[in-house]
Amino acid sequence: MGATRVETKDFGSQIPYAEPPWLCGLPSPYIRDSHRKLQRAMRDWVEKTGKKSSRLPQDLYKACAEAGILMPMAAGATIPQEWRNSYPIMGDIEASEWDGFHDFIIHDEMTRVGGIGIPNGLIGGLTLCIPALKKHGKGAAIDRMIGEALSGPEAGSDVQGITTTAVLSADGTQYTVNGQKKWITGGTYAKYFLTLTRTADQGFTLLVIPKDSTVTVRPMEMCGSACAGTAFVEFDDTVVPVTNRVGEQGGGLACVMSNFNHERLFISFQAMRCARMCLEDAISHAITRETFGQELASHAVVRHKLANMAREVEALHSWIETLVYQLGNLNERDSIARLAGQTAQLKAHSGIVLERVVSQGIQLMGGLGLTRGGRGERLERIWRDVKAITIPGGSEDILLDLSIRRAIRGLTSPTEPRKSAKI
Ligand SMILES: Cc1cc2nc3c(=O)[nH]c(=O)nc-3n(C[C@H](O)[C@H](O)[C@H](O)COP(=O)(O)OP(=O)(O)OC[C@H]3O[C@@H](n4cnc5c(N)ncnc54)[C@H](O)[C@@H]3O)c2cc1C
Repeated sequence: MGATRVETKDFGSQIPYAEPPWLCGLPSPYIRDSHRKLQRAMRDWVEKTGKKSSRLPQDLYKACAEAGILMPMAAGATIPQEWRNSYPIMGDIEASEWDGFHDFIIHDEMTRVGGIGIPNGLIGGLTLCIPALKKHGKGAAIDRMIGEALSGPEAGSDVQGITTTAVLSADGTQYTVNGQKKWITGGTYAKYFLTLTRTADQGFTLLVIPKDSTVTVRPMEMCGSACAGTAFVEFDDTVVPVTNRVGEQGGGLACVMSNFNHERLFISFQAMRCARMCLEDAISHAITRETFGQELASHAVVRHKLANMAREVEALHSWIETLVYQLGNLNERDSIARLAGQTAQLKAHSGIVLERVVSQGIQLMGGLGLTRGGRGERLERIWRDVKAITIPGGSEDILLDLSIRRAIRGLTSPTEPRKSAKI
């Protein structure tokens, strides 16, 4: 967390735009006392615990479980009844009060460790996988795995290995899995892999595959996010009991897709905080660095850059809040039918905003923005991370196309049917 920032205990950073409007004393229709309480508790925890590292410290996952971070992050916008009273919640928030804005805040504050590597290595797998396990998995084996993942003995992770095959044994008791999957977030730490496999009926079947000697995990060296533990995973005649199946045989894709809105939303939360950090550090620099005898911010062209960064950040924040509110007030079926396109568009947009904001921020920092360590450290790190926002979880091109296809498909004309229905 390199750059020097002006902070007060009560309201976080005093640098303009560094905090969401509600934290700067502005009224909000969404924020209640429990949101404020969670924000303070999370901020304190991250300030105390966050540190620079190229691998997750071994005890951090367990520490997150004990601090009440894992379960709420895996739960998303609502904490299921069965998990209430079984796991702690950061800030001692009442489980019944938890909503999409608590979810936004916990991800937002977690990203303040300085980028997305640590959050993704820690909770990326959980946030992606546990909701599908919870909703579609049945039986003691699945319950045990969820319990283990949420209590923190080791990390869990996900795979969506479409080319990976699973063959059911003649007696119907186990699958034999073969195949490989690249770019698995948290794969180097994982004990279980939630894997979409192709089964004989040409359908997709979702399995939880425990790591054993037939599963090879190789770390992949990525451009940024070293802590995310991105891995290449190979299954070689891996035997998986049928009790580890999540949902029905052939029904795996629907299980995975049911979590897409939240997956895309949490990536937007991360992009949002990264963009704020870039703006915060760029403004801090612009009011302290002098060139040609004047501080940078005294040049109109510099202020113009900052204003453009700020308007994009604030507009993104408002759009996220609107979608969080709308998703929280629709049932699951309607939230997919009505908002999957917009959530995809938001995720794409948040990557586009972050890419522009980090680029402008680095330009303003000059050489410092390209230096590992020092005042430009966060920008340099986020610059390396930004494509890990725009590509995973549905890449920008695919999501923008999906959003507009869904919007056009939904068009109905009272007078004429559309001539081409190819979209
Ligand atoms: C850091 C990182 C973490 C990841 N974590 C996970 C994980 O945990 N689990 C997991 O299952 N996967 C993960 N992935 C994989 C990720 O989901 C894929 O990389 C992503 O979906 C894009 O697929 P691809 O890389 O094969 O690119 P391709 O599908 O080969 O596409 C290449 C480019 O072409 C564009 N493109 C493709 N088709 C079209 C089209 N029809 N129209 C226009 N443009 C198109 C794409 O947008 C992309 O930019 C991760 C990837 C990264 C980089």
